[in-house]
Amino acid sequence: MAEYDVIIIGAGPGGYVCAIRCAQLGLKTACVEGRETLGGTCLNVGCIPSKAMLHASELYHEATTNFTKMGLMGQSPSIDLPKMLEYKQDSVNSNTGGIEFLFKKNKVDWIKGYGSIPEAGKVTVGDTTHTAKHIVIATGSEAASLPGVEVDEKVVVTSTGALELSKVPNKMVVIGGGVIGLELGSVYSRLGAEVTVIEFQDAIVPGADGEIQKNFLKMLKKQGLKFELGAAVSGTTIKNKKATVSYKKRKDDSEHEIDADIVLLATGRRPYTDNLGLDALGVEMERGMIKTDGHWGTNVKGIYAIGDVIAGPMLAHKAEDEGMAVAETIAGQKGHVNYGVIPGVIYTHPEVANVGKTEEQLKEEGRKYKVGKFPFMGNARAKSHFAGEGFVKMIVDAETDRILGAHVIGPMAGDLIHEVCVAMEFGAAAEDLARTCHAHPTFSEAMREAALACGDGAIHA
Ligand SMILES: Cc1cc2nc3c(=O)[nH]c(=O)nc-3n(C[C@H](O)[C@H](O)[C@H](O)COP(=O)(O)OP(=O)(O)OC[C@H]3O[C@@H](n4cnc5c(N)ncnc54)[C@H](O)[C@@H]3O)c2cc1C
Repeated sequence: MAEYDVIIIGAGPGGYVCAIRCAQLGLKTACVEGRETLGGTCLNVGCIPSKAMLHASELYHEATTNFTKMGLMGQSPSIDLPKMLEYKQDSVNSNTGGIEFLFKKNKVDWIKGYGSIPEAGKVTVGDTTHTAKHIVIATGSEAASLPGVEVDEKVVVTSTGALELSKVPNKMVVIGGGVIGLELGSVYSRLGAEVTVIEFQDAIVPGADGEIQKNFLKMLKKQGLKFELGAAVSGTTIKNKKATVSYKKRKDDSEHEIDADIVLLATGRRPYTDNLGLDALGVEMERGMIKTDGHWGTNVKGIYAIGDVIAGPMLAHKAEDEGMAVAETIAGQKGHVNYGVIPGVIYTHPEVANVGKTEEQLKEEGRKYKVGKFPFMGNARAKSHFAGEGFVKMIVDAETDRILGAHVIGPMAGDLIHEVCVAMEFGAAAEDLARTCHAHPTFSEAMREAALACGDGAIHA
């Protein structure tokens, strides 16, 4: 048994960042993690391994499509999936090992095992109960289930199984046209699978800007992915290691079936709070999530919650920001997260990124706005990289020119979006971005051009 100022349960991006910041602020800190390695979903089975697979499959695609155009002749690479998985695992290991190093460096104790909270101020792991003035729950999320779809992680898989396939399937069905389904679907499509995405809504990436949804869908179709939109999956059956997916089209109730070697269930994630003892403690929940106040406190004094277990987008950087902010709050400072400026990125090719409001949201709010757009075809760097597909769309207040949101589909969109995030944090107008000198030739000039398009007009369009 040990006594701590803070014990954090869960070492994902929310929990480990919180632990490091608590220790940096002089608090005696421990982090409980049941997994063999630190880093949570994100580093072990989420962001990092999926990005490694996206990177490898994109390079394969680049080598087989654009290399000869650039005078790079010779044999195209072939796919060795086990070797690719080794590369993916190496990137996971170096990142999870890095967190272990940071824990040691910052003197954060890693209590190994699954924790529960017998009462406020106490955390039990195995046979030992530790005391803590403050407890932060950061136990993350797990793949959501779908009635009639039984996951065996071999034929019907979640994202975790999809990152461990022993061979590239001939046919893959992805249930759910959200971020995870489209990222992993495009990995296997590039590696040679015939991929069909079945989505309940009439558009992919529900909640994204409508113009982005339409253009993104067109681009993915051009890449060979197939889509069944407005279709509700009713179940899967497995026979001879192959699956059949049954679904109903919502517009006419017609029943359909599709066969697949692999079915990826990617219908979202749900907060994970099993075995923490929250019921007995009386911790208030809201739609499966832990309910928190404006400072990440639950209704039980001394118990906080952050990351995927609470409301808001299930994103690693949102969890990290909350981790830092709750640490600062516990240390008596003023922790703050600006939920209006949390970027979202889809790491497909091209990438899709957004921050702030969509046009649809602004229409609903009845707010007057202007849109400035710039196509990557007008960007010299993008053209020379065969990356002219896509555009930047900036949305500003019609009267003040203040930036309200940006939506990018194109090369490096996930990096470019941060220019707008910083601008929004400073309350900038599009003119501020438009008057900022941008190096040539860079993709970021497209951001400036979109800002110019909000005023007197873009130069290269
Ligand atoms: C395939 C995939 C790709 C993704 N890609 C991205 C991306 O590119 N960018 C992005 O921002 N987000 C991405 N996400 C989402 C991101 O992984 C999550 O939003 C993020 O990990 C949430 O962080 P967290 O700290 O709340 O929880 P988690 O990362 O889920 O960590 C929670 C940890 O708590 C541990 N735990 C649970 N219960 C207990 C207990 N009782 N005792 C001890 N330990 C416990 C778990 O073992 C886990 O390690 C992706 C997710 C998936 C599945």
